[in-house]
Amino acid sequence: KISYYNGQFKNDDEITVDYNDRAFYFGDGVYEVVRVYNNEFFTLDEHMDRLIRSASEIGIEDLDRSKMVEIVTQLNKQNNISDGSIYIQVSRGIGKRNHAYPLDTKPVVLAYMNETARPTDQMEEGISAITAEDYRWLKCHVKSLNLLANVMEKERAVRAGAHETILNRQGIVTEGSSTNVFIVKDGVLITHPADNMILNGITRLEVLKVAELRNIAYEEKTFTVKELMEAEEVFITSTTQEVTPVIEVDGEMIGKGLKGKVTNALQEGFNERIHKLNLV
Ligand code: PLP
Repeated sequence: KISYYNGQFKNDDEITVDYNDRAFYFGDGVYEVVRVYNNEFFTLDEHMDRLIRSASEIGIEDLDRSKMVEIVTQLNKQNNISDGSIYIQVSRGIGKRNHAYPLDTKPVVLAYMNETARPTDQMEEGISAITAEDYRWLKCHVKSLNLLANVMEKERAVRAGAHETILNRQGIVTEGSSTNVFIVKDGVLITHPADNMILNGITRLEVLKVAELRNIAYEEKTFTVKELMEAEEVFITSTTQEVTPVIEVDGEMIGKGLKGKVTNALQEGFNERIHKLNLV
């Protein structure tokens, strides 16, 4: 497999990374995961825009968007993986360990492609989740490499025999450890507003577009853990998880414990977008 690090495309087994890369010491950087279906990028522009925005939010202003596009395009061409995902991270750069930014460093890019199957069983049967406190920082809209709280909370789910941890701040549901969260209440789709408390998922935005096209009423507003537990339907979204029903939270059944009607309609609409059908 061909991957990319700091200016060079190489075979995976020939890549060595610099131990002074600030990604190691501080998680000092940002990243994206882009989906490839049938050899073609899905929502590449949106992911590249967010990468540039995230970088800018942490003070990396000189990131060359066309260069980032070129790197992922090359990886997609050279690896010939029809259903995959590309991981791309940008660290602040290389420099001796020091909290303050090194004076003369430039961003270092690491990128590779993986084969990725669609989570077809989970999308049909649904998954279970647990709830936990969201104790992350207050810039969750930045897709930061600093994922310690996210990995600890994902592990909490795994240890509980569940698939995802749904986070809340003082009873307000924010998002999952690596997904956005939607509920259906009185037939209306509800998800947390895109502010600094969540990552504004590209899949989240796709789902809202589908809701618009299909005349499914939706609101971007906060909801509580109690509303989550009492919801008619719950689902999570992400680039790799797509639209996945949540049928159980903290051991309690959501709705009828099956994929709901609204979730199903949104999945259909999302599929159409993947296959570029009926796009407006
Ligand atoms: N929220 C968090 C914390 C994430 O890490 C992710 C994706 O990894 C998402 C939401 C979903 O974002 P997207 O749909 O752009 O993959």
